[in-house]
Amino acid sequence: MSIRIGLGDIAIHRVIEQEGPFFDALTFFPKLTKDLLEENRPWLQPRFLTADNQLMLCIQSYLVQTPHHNILIDTCVGNHKPRPTRPFWHMMQSDRYEKNLAATGLSVDDIDFVMCTHLHTDHVGWNTRLDNGRWVPTFPKARYIFAERELGFWEKRQKDEPTACPWVADSVLPIVAANRADIVKSAHALNELVTLIPTPGHTIDHYSVHVGKPGGDAVITGDMIHSPLQARYPELGMMVDYDSGQAGRSRRELFGRFCDTSTLVCTAHFPSPSTGRVVRWRDAFDIVAV
Ligand SMILES: [Zn+2]
Repeated sequence: MSIRIGLGDIAIHRVIEQEGPFFDALTFFPKLTKDLLEENRPWLQPRFLTADNQLMLCIQSYLVQTPHHNILIDTCVGNHKPRPTRPFWHMMQSDRYEKNLAATGLSVDDIDFVMCTHLHTDHVGWNTRLDNGRWVPTFPKARYIFAERELGFWEKRQKDEPTACPWVADSVLPIVAANRADIVKSAHALNELVTLIPTPGHTIDHYSVHVGKPGGDAVITGDMIHSPLQARYPELGMMVDYDSGQAGRSRRELFGRFCDTSTLVCTAHFPSPSTGRVVRWRDAFDIVAV
């Protein structure tokens, strides 16, 4: 099934790899209290939260088609990758992602750019595929756009503690070794239709991607937000944030910029339809489906 969103000259497809309950909400958001969870349960459950406090999450890519380029933003978990600390992502052998990519009408050969909002395991997996025991770029013609400080951070982490981040070795470094990486500042502009926006905090140099023109635009947020709870409570950090304080400031800044506009917000992990518009809620925000 292909899920296509039209925005003037631009089309955005969602390419889903997985969707379902994944993490315990109180573990995932370490500062979420039981009281705050109960206060919000009526609107969270069942769409965003199960009765036993599992977060409903989607793992997906956004494929943006502009008149000039096909851009794949974030590449999910991937197949055949050892992820011993995450059983539900360990050595996956699923054809769902490839089938959903094919349903867009495009193939791996059609992708011009791959953008990774950040270099976590569920955003880099399909960067590479296994070919005769070697990890090779999945998208043979694509340039891969990595933020400079983000790449530097994970290269060092991989050197210092390789077992803590196995995805760097199988899904990031092979792209660099194949000279397929474009290493950019996190405010990089690809052209007049596609601009990166620095949204640091979840990771050191996380970026979001703005596409389109006013009146027909969208922002692909990556992991600067995981659940609509973090729109209402922007200071609610996530368990593996690099700097939760900074992540909260990034949320307030980005949502403040797009609040009460027509800009479509495309989140990485909200359950389907995963997209919405930012509106004011008390002293913060909400993301409402359109
Ligand atoms: Zn993620």
